[in-house]
Amino acid sequence: MGTTYHITVVAPFWNSLSRLEQLIREELLALNQSMSVYDPNSEISRFNAMTDTAAALEISDRFADVLEISNDVWRRTRGAFDPTVFPLVKLWGFNTDGSPKLPDAAAIEAAKQRVGFDRVRFDARNRIGKTLPNVGIDLSAIAKGYGVDRVAGVVRNAGYTDFIVEIGGEVFAAGTKADGRPWKVGVNYPDVAAPPDLVYKTLLLSNRAVATSGNYRNFQHIEGKRYTHIIDPQTGWPIDNGVASVTVLADTCALADGLATGLMVLGPEQAIPLVEQWPGIDCLFLVNDAEGKLIEIASSGFGKTP
Ligand code: ADP
Ligand code: MG
Repeated sequence: MGTTYHITVVAPFWNSLSRLEQLIREELLALNQSMSVYDPNSEISRFNAMTDTAAALEISDRFADVLEISNDVWRRTRGAFDPTVFPLVKLWGFNTDGSPKLPDAAAIEAAKQRVGFDRVRFDARNRIGKTLPNVGIDLSAIAKGYGVDRVAGVVRNAGYTDFIVEIGGEVFAAGTKADGRPWKVGVNYPDVAAPPDLVYKTLLLSNRAVATSGNYRNFQHIEGKRYTHIIDPQTGWPIDNGVASVTVLADTCALADGLATGLMVLGPEQAIPLVEQWPGIDCLFLVNDAEGKLIEIASSGFGKTP
């Protein structure tokens, strides 16, 4: 996934964790072989290379799980989160080796025509196709969160109840720390110039996931202007709505991760009402106002319980 991970497990000192470490590595390897767009032989790359709309691809349970959760988030965010944004991501020069340039309007329009999660054909849970020849999927916005859930499952299956799993900043915390208190997770200060470990706010977390999407880490400059890597599928352009970051709490990290990206696109006005009527979900928006000051917009339950 092109990122780092950290796992902390509360265990008696005599336990050897080397077998668990090996199982975790195997899980991460399997995730990459399924959903990495950098690996030409991954399931996702094979799907993206397909051009025959009559063809179908047999997919793993991991891939099927992520598509199922993606479908839910796509529907509920009314398309703000959409994994078929891949042609636009490539056009804008993210996740590729090409040097970034401002795409022309016709190219954006052409790429937009290929976007829409309803163009992925579900023949069965583990069998998919496409209804347009050049539809492509990019699961970068949700795969890390799903990876956290899978690794948490591996740790739980090994018999542990108190642990924390983090992949690329997305987190699931189970049980408590060794001292019986909830785990603590920092929300980063969402500023390009801030040191990467500067904490804006500390959250208490127990049996819950947290994920953050931001415009301050992954971006590029084109002709002197900064463009974030999150794209509004409706306009075909990187978002420019003043949202610096969105932090989402949910029962699973896949949901938190996918939703953080979707809510970032929606912006607080549409996102907060959606979150308020969604059980188990809470969110915090950090928004740069007109004077560049950071303001908080949170759902009513955010930070109330670990
Ligand atoms: P990060 O990878 O920094 O944690 P996200 O989880 O928000 O950030 O994922 C952003 C990535 O998702 C982008 O790099 C791109 O590959 C893809 N993406 C961009 N816009 C969208 C979108 N509207 N819906 C789904 N995926 C997107
Ligand atoms: Mg995300």
